[in-house]
Amino acid sequence: MTKPCIITVAITGSVPRKENNPAVPITVAEQVESTHAAFEAGASIAHVHVRNDDQTPTSNPERFAQLLEGLRKHCPGLIVQFSTGGRSGKGSERGGMLHLGCDMASLSTGSCNFPTIIYENHPTLIRELADLMRQHHVKPEIECFDISMLYQAFRMADEGILEKPLHVQFVMGVKNAMPVVRQAFDFFVNEVERIAPETTWVAAGIGKDQLTVNRWCLERGGHCRTGLEDNIRWDETRLAKSNAELVGRVAALCANYDRHPASFAEARALLGLPPFTL
Ligand code: ZN
Repeated sequence: MTKPCIITVAITGSVPRKENNPAVPITVAEQVESTHAAFEAGASIAHVHVRNDDQTPTSNPERFAQLLEGLRKHCPGLIVQFSTGGRSGKGSERGGMLHLGCDMASLSTGSCNFPTIIYENHPTLIRELADLMRQHHVKPEIECFDISMLYQAFRMADEGILEKPLHVQFVMGVKNAMPVVRQAFDFFVNEVERIAPETTWVAAGIGKDQLTVNRWCLERGGHCRTGLEDNIRWDETRLAKSNAELVGRVAALCANYDRHPASFAEARALLGLPPFTL
Protein backbone atom coordinates (compact mmCIF):
# COMPACT_ATOMS: atom_id res chain seq x y z
CA MET A 1 0.00 0.00 0.00
CA THR A 2 1.42 3.38 -0.98
CA LYS A 3 1.38 6.37 1.35
CA PRO A 4 -1.48 8.82 0.87
CA CYS A 5 -0.82 12.41 -0.20
CA ILE A 6 -3.41 15.00 0.72
CA ILE A 7 -3.80 17.34 -2.25
CA THR A 8 -5.00 20.83 -1.40
CA VAL A 9 -6.43 22.94 -4.18
CA ALA A 10 -6.23 26.69 -3.64
CA ILE A 11 -8.89 27.71 -6.11
CA THR A 12 -9.09 31.52 -6.13
CA GLY A 13 -6.89 33.70 -3.97
CA SER A 14 -7.23 37.44 -3.95
CA VAL A 15 -5.50 38.77 -7.08
CA PRO A 16 -7.87 40.16 -9.75
CA ARG A 17 -8.69 37.68 -12.52
CA LYS A 18 -8.56 40.18 -15.33
CA GLU A 19 -4.84 40.55 -14.77
CA ASN A 20 -4.05 36.86 -14.89
CA ASN A 21 -6.09 33.86 -16.00
CA PRO A 22 -9.79 33.80 -16.92
CA ALA A 23 -10.04 30.27 -15.47
CA VAL A 24 -9.70 31.63 -11.91
CA PRO A 25 -13.18 31.11 -10.41
CA ILE A 26 -14.65 34.27 -8.87
CA THR A 27 -18.39 33.97 -8.32
CA VAL A 28 -19.68 31.39 -5.87
CA ALA A 29 -21.16 29.35 -8.75
CA GLU A 30 -17.81 29.35 -10.58
CA GLN A 31 -15.99 28.42 -7.37
CA VAL A 32 -18.30 25.48 -6.67
CA GLU A 33 -17.97 24.21 -10.24
CA SER A 34 -14.19 24.57 -10.28
CA THR A 35 -13.80 22.93 -6.86
CA HIS A 36 -16.05 20.05 -7.87
CA ALA A 37 -13.85 19.28 -10.87
CA ALA A 38 -10.71 19.55 -8.71
CA PHE A 39 -12.28 17.22 -6.09
CA GLU A 40 -12.97 14.65 -8.82
CA ALA A 41 -9.37 15.03 -10.02
CA GLY A 42 -8.01 14.08 -6.57
CA ALA A 43 -8.07 17.09 -4.26
CA SER A 44 -9.33 16.45 -0.74
CA ILE A 45 -8.92 19.97 0.72
CA ALA A 46 -10.16 23.18 -0.88
CA HIS A 47 -8.49 26.34 0.39
CA VAL A 48 -10.88 29.18 -0.36
CA HIS A 49 -11.10 32.96 -0.41
CA VAL A 50 -14.26 34.79 -1.46
CA ARG A 51 -14.69 37.84 -3.66
CA ASN A 52 -17.22 40.58 -4.18
CA ASP A 53 -18.94 40.79 -7.57
CA ASP A 54 -16.33 43.34 -8.68
CA GLN A 55 -13.63 40.71 -7.91
CA THR A 56 -12.24 42.51 -4.86
CA PRO A 57 -11.46 40.14 -1.99
CA THR A 58 -13.80 40.20 1.00
CA SER A 59 -14.21 38.46 4.33
CA ASN A 60 -17.99 38.84 4.20
CA PRO A 61 -19.40 35.89 6.18
CA GLU A 62 -22.48 35.76 3.94
CA ARG A 63 -20.34 35.09 0.91
CA PHE A 64 -18.40 32.40 2.78
CA ALA A 65 -21.70 30.85 3.90
CA GLN A 66 -22.97 30.66 0.32
CA LEU A 67 -19.76 29.03 -0.85
CA LEU A 68 -19.72 26.54 2.03
CA GLU A 69 -23.31 25.55 1.30
CA GLY A 70 -22.49 24.96 -2.37
CA LEU A 71 -19.39 22.94 -1.56
CA ARG A 72 -21.16 20.78 1.04
CA LYS A 73 -23.90 20.04 -1.50
CA HIS A 74 -21.73 19.33 -4.55
CA CYS A 75 -18.55 17.97 -2.95
CA PRO A 76 -19.69 15.87 0.02
CA GLY A 77 -16.74 14.85 2.19
CA LEU A 78 -14.39 17.53 0.85
CA ILE A 79 -12.40 19.34 3.58
CA VAL A 80 -13.21 23.03 3.35
CA GLN A 81 -10.50 25.42 4.52
CA PHE A 82 -11.33 29.12 4.79
CA SER A 83 -8.57 31.69 4.35
CA THR A 84 -8.10 34.23 7.12
CA GLY A 85 -5.52 35.97 4.91
CA GLY A 86 -4.90 39.66 5.16
CA ARG A 87 -6.02 40.96 1.77
CA SER A 88 -9.69 40.29 2.40
CA GLY A 89 -10.25 42.16 5.64
CA LYS A 90 -8.75 44.05 8.53
CA GLY A 91 -7.96 42.67 11.97
CA SER A 92 -10.70 40.67 13.64
CA GLU A 93 -12.86 40.80 10.49
CA ARG A 94 -10.59 38.12 9.12
CA GLY A 95 -12.08 35.58 11.53
CA GLY A 96 -15.69 36.70 11.20
CA MET A 97 -16.69 33.55 9.29
CA LEU A 98 -15.08 30.92 11.51
CA HIS A 99 -18.39 30.09 13.18
CA LEU A 100 -19.94 28.88 9.91
CA GLY A 101 -18.80 25.26 10.17
CA CYS A 102 -15.75 25.02 7.92
CA ASP A 103 -13.36 22.15 8.70
CA MET A 104 -10.13 24.13 8.65
CA ALA A 105 -8.82 27.67 8.31
CA SER A 106 -5.46 29.17 7.50
CA LEU A 107 -3.55 30.86 10.32
CA SER A 108 -0.31 32.76 9.89
CA THR A 109 1.87 32.87 12.99
CA GLY A 110 3.89 35.93 12.06
CA SER A 111 4.23 38.96 9.81
CA CYS A 112 6.27 39.43 6.66
CA ASN A 113 6.42 41.39 3.44
CA PHE A 114 4.32 40.46 0.42
CA PRO A 115 4.95 41.79 -3.11
CA THR A 116 3.26 45.15 -2.51
CA ILE A 117 2.06 45.13 1.13
CA ILE A 118 3.08 44.21 4.65
CA TYR A 119 1.28 41.00 5.63
CA GLU A 120 0.52 42.10 9.14
CA ASN A 121 -0.30 39.56 11.84
CA HIS A 122 -0.06 41.18 15.24
CA PRO A 123 0.53 38.70 18.09
CA THR A 124 -2.83 39.74 19.58
CA LEU A 125 -4.64 39.00 16.32
CA ILE A 126 -2.91 35.63 15.90
CA ARG A 127 -4.02 34.71 19.41
CA GLU A 128 -7.56 35.91 18.75
CA LEU A 129 -7.88 33.90 15.52
CA ALA A 130 -6.39 30.82 17.19
CA ASP A 131 -8.84 31.12 20.09
CA LEU A 132 -11.77 31.44 17.68
CA MET A 133 -10.65 28.35 15.77
CA ARG A 134 -10.41 26.31 18.96
CA GLN A 135 -13.80 27.54 20.09
CA HIS A 136 -15.45 26.56 16.80
CA HIS A 137 -13.53 23.27 16.33
CA VAL A 138 -11.80 24.53 13.21
CA LYS A 139 -8.40 22.96 12.61
CA PRO A 140 -5.79 25.56 11.68
CA GLU A 141 -3.38 25.14 8.82
CA ILE A 142 -0.36 27.08 10.04
CA GLU A 143 0.96 29.22 7.20
CA CYS A 144 4.72 29.67 7.57
CA PHE A 145 5.97 32.38 5.24
CA ASP A 146 9.35 32.03 6.91
CA ILE A 147 10.96 29.60 9.33
CA SER A 148 10.33 31.70 12.45
CA MET A 149 6.58 31.18 12.01
CA LEU A 150 7.11 27.43 12.47
CA TYR A 151 8.73 27.96 15.87
CA GLN A 152 5.96 30.36 16.92
CA ALA A 153 3.40 27.68 16.05
CA PHE A 154 5.17 25.02 18.12
CA ARG A 155 5.43 27.47 21.02
CA MET A 156 1.71 28.22 20.80
CA ALA A 157 1.00 24.48 20.77
CA ASP A 158 3.14 24.04 23.90
CA GLU A 159 1.16 26.82 25.55
CA GLY A 160 -2.12 25.11 24.67
CA ILE A 161 -3.26 27.88 22.33
CA LEU A 162 -3.06 25.53 19.34
CA GLU A 163 -4.05 21.89 19.52
CA LYS A 164 -1.49 19.19 18.77
CA PRO A 165 -0.70 17.65 16.38
CA LEU A 166 -0.33 20.67 14.17
CA HIS A 167 -0.78 20.84 10.43
CA VAL A 168 1.78 23.24 8.97
CA GLN A 169 2.47 24.64 5.54
CA PHE A 170 5.72 26.16 4.33
CA VAL A 171 4.94 28.85 1.76
CA MET A 172 7.75 29.54 -0.67
CA GLY A 173 8.02 31.79 -3.70
CA VAL A 174 6.19 34.90 -2.46
CA LYS A 175 8.15 37.95 -3.61
CA ASN A 176 9.80 39.70 -0.64
CA ALA A 177 9.27 36.64 1.58
CA MET A 178 10.78 33.11 1.45
CA PRO A 179 12.13 32.07 -1.97
CA VAL A 180 11.99 28.52 -3.34
CA VAL A 181 15.28 27.09 -2.06
CA ARG A 182 15.79 23.36 -1.58
CA GLN A 183 18.10 23.75 1.42
CA ALA A 184 15.52 25.91 3.20
CA PHE A 185 12.78 23.43 2.38
CA ASP A 186 14.82 20.54 3.77
CA PHE A 187 15.64 22.54 6.89
CA PHE A 188 11.94 23.21 7.46
CA VAL A 189 11.02 19.53 7.04
CA ASN A 190 13.93 18.41 9.24
CA GLU A 191 12.86 20.81 11.99
CA VAL A 192 9.25 19.58 11.82
CA GLU A 193 10.48 15.99 12.11
CA ARG A 194 12.89 16.83 14.95
CA ILE A 195 10.55 18.95 17.07
CA ALA A 196 7.18 17.26 16.57
CA PRO A 197 7.26 14.30 14.18
CA GLU A 198 3.51 13.75 14.54
CA THR A 199 2.96 17.05 12.70
CA THR A 200 1.43 16.79 9.23
CA TRP A 201 3.00 19.13 6.71
CA VAL A 202 2.69 20.51 3.22
CA ALA A 203 4.52 23.15 1.20
CA ALA A 204 3.24 25.57 -1.40
CA GLY A 205 5.32 26.92 -4.28
CA ILE A 206 3.91 30.25 -5.37
CA GLY A 207 4.41 30.99 -9.05
CA LYS A 208 6.60 29.19 -11.53
CA ASP A 209 8.07 26.71 -9.04
CA GLN A 210 4.76 25.22 -7.92
CA LEU A 211 5.47 21.86 -9.53
CA THR A 212 9.03 21.75 -8.21
CA VAL A 213 7.74 22.15 -4.66
CA ASN A 214 5.07 19.49 -5.31
CA ARG A 215 7.84 17.06 -6.26
CA TRP A 216 9.90 17.90 -3.17
CA CYS A 217 6.88 17.29 -0.94
CA LEU A 218 6.12 13.94 -2.52
CA GLU A 219 9.75 12.92 -2.16
CA ARG A 220 10.01 13.88 1.51
CA GLY A 221 6.68 12.35 2.52
CA GLY A 222 4.68 15.55 2.85
CA HIS A 223 1.40 16.61 1.33
CA CYS A 224 0.88 18.85 -1.71
CA ARG A 225 -0.81 22.10 -2.60
CA THR A 226 -1.63 23.34 -6.07
CA GLY A 227 -4.23 25.56 -7.71
CA LEU A 228 -4.75 28.83 -9.52
CA GLU A 229 -4.38 30.96 -6.38
CA ASP A 230 -0.67 30.11 -6.31
CA ASN A 231 0.14 29.68 -9.97
CA ILE A 232 -1.88 30.43 -13.08
CA ARG A 233 0.37 28.71 -15.61
CA TRP A 234 0.67 25.12 -16.81
CA ASP A 235 4.20 25.76 -18.06
CA GLU A 236 6.17 28.52 -19.71
CA THR A 237 4.12 28.29 -22.88
CA ARG A 238 0.52 28.42 -21.69
CA LEU A 239 -1.91 29.24 -18.90
CA ALA A 240 -3.46 26.44 -16.84
CA LYS A 241 -6.94 25.54 -18.08
CA SER A 242 -8.43 24.91 -14.67
CA ASN A 243 -7.79 24.02 -11.06
CA ALA A 244 -8.64 20.42 -11.96
CA GLU A 245 -5.89 20.35 -14.56
CA LEU A 246 -3.30 21.35 -11.96
CA VAL A 247 -4.67 18.85 -9.41
CA GLY A 248 -4.62 16.09 -12.04
CA ARG A 249 -0.92 16.72 -12.64
CA VAL A 250 -0.07 16.26 -8.95
CA ALA A 251 -2.35 13.23 -8.67
CA ALA A 252 -0.57 11.61 -11.62
CA LEU A 253 2.84 12.41 -10.15
CA CYS A 254 2.07 10.57 -6.89
CA ALA A 255 2.80 7.15 -8.37
CA ASN A 256 6.40 8.15 -9.18
CA TYR A 257 7.01 8.52 -5.44
CA ASP A 258 5.07 5.47 -4.19
CA ARG A 259 2.24 7.75 -3.15
CA HIS A 260 -1.45 8.01 -4.02
CA PRO A 261 -3.87 10.92 -3.77
CA ALA A 262 -5.61 10.66 -0.37
CA SER A 263 -9.35 10.16 -0.48
CA PHE A 264 -11.29 12.63 1.64
CA ALA A 265 -11.77 9.87 4.23
CA GLU A 266 -8.02 9.22 4.40
CA ALA A 267 -7.29 12.94 4.56
CA ARG A 268 -9.77 13.42 7.40
CA ALA A 269 -8.19 10.57 9.36
CA LEU A 270 -4.64 11.85 8.77
CA LEU A 271 -5.60 15.34 9.95
CA GLY A 272 -7.62 14.14 12.93
CA LEU A 273 -10.85 15.62 11.54
CA PRO A 274 -14.19 13.95 12.18
CA PRO A 275 -15.26 11.48 9.51
CA PHE A 276 -17.74 12.79 7.01
CA THR A 277 -21.36 11.88 7.64
CA LEU A 278 -24.36 12.88 5.60
ZN1 ZN B 1 -5.02 31.72 0.17
